[in-house]
Amino acid sequence: MTRVIFLGPPGAGKGTQAKTLADDLNIPHISTGDILRQGLKDQTPLGVKAQSYMDKGELVPDQLVEEMVQERLIQDDTKLGWILDGFPRTVNQAVFLEQLLGKLNQNGEKVVNLNVPDETVIARLLERGRKDDSEEVIRRRLEVYRSETAPLIDYYSSRQTLLSINGNQSLEEVTAELKKVIVS
Ligand code: AMP
Repeated sequence: MTRVIFLGPPGAGKGTQAKTLADDLNIPHISTGDILRQGLKDQTPLGVKAQSYMDKGELVPDQLVEEMVQERLIQDDTKLGWILDGFPRTVNQAVFLEQLLGKLNQNGEKVVNLNVPDETVIARLLERGRKDDSEEVIRRRLEVYRSETAPLIDYYSSRQTLLSINGNQSLEEVTAELKKVIVS
């Protein structure tokens, strides 16, 4: 049983690593960003509501993403574990998640923080060239990360062991390090 929460700034490589590990372990990779982008593409009510926030690099309101995650975590394929990527992103979301996991009997998750210096993050985001990766939006997303999401590092370190990984290495090296801490 593997349940993992991935923390780290945008551009840290969370998505790539989470996907690789989830494939390897045969458990769902739950990325709130991916679900929102899919909703946007399909023009679902959720996608439409989320668009203006995503385009600006702002966070989508907690309630919207919380409902989305709840719906995802009650599905059957989560019984063997999951990797959460991009959620929680605020302390409010973390409190919500803790209560939800309690209700679903899915506690015992590992929290991994992917450490990457600012310069690397900016270079990677500019390289990636996603629609919400213009320089202005990147700057805003990093600000939002610092003010809203970085506090989760303290939040989790004060309640459970926070596993810290050096994300400033090759893809393969990061994957190897992650596997070591996650399966142990
Ligand atoms: P990501 O793919 O994780 O970088 O997410 C892309 C965008 O989706 C973010 O910039 C936010 O606008 C939105 N988003 C994804 N996850 C969350 C979340 N947990 N809370 C609020 N907004 C989110």
